[in-house]
Amino acid sequence: MKLLLLFLFLLSNTKCEEPSDVYICNNGKTKKYHLSTNCRALRNCSYKTLKITLEKAKKDGKTLCGWEKQ
Ligand SMILES: [Zn+2]
Repeated sequence: MKLLLLFLFLLSNTKCEEPSDVYICNNGKTKKYHLSTNCRALRNCSYKTLKITLEKAKKDGKTLCGWEKQ
């Protein structure tokens, strides 16, 4: 029982860290995407923040914002 709970915990944890959705500033010309809405670059955005999939962001030629380089 304990093992099962641990397994479920690990599973949900892994799911959480997979960044399938990213955020962009909806100014129509941004080339950056952000992993968090709390990013300082995104907070400077005076347009609406848009949530898109990472796949679409990459397809559009967007790259990870410089504040969030890993
Ligand atoms: Zn950012």
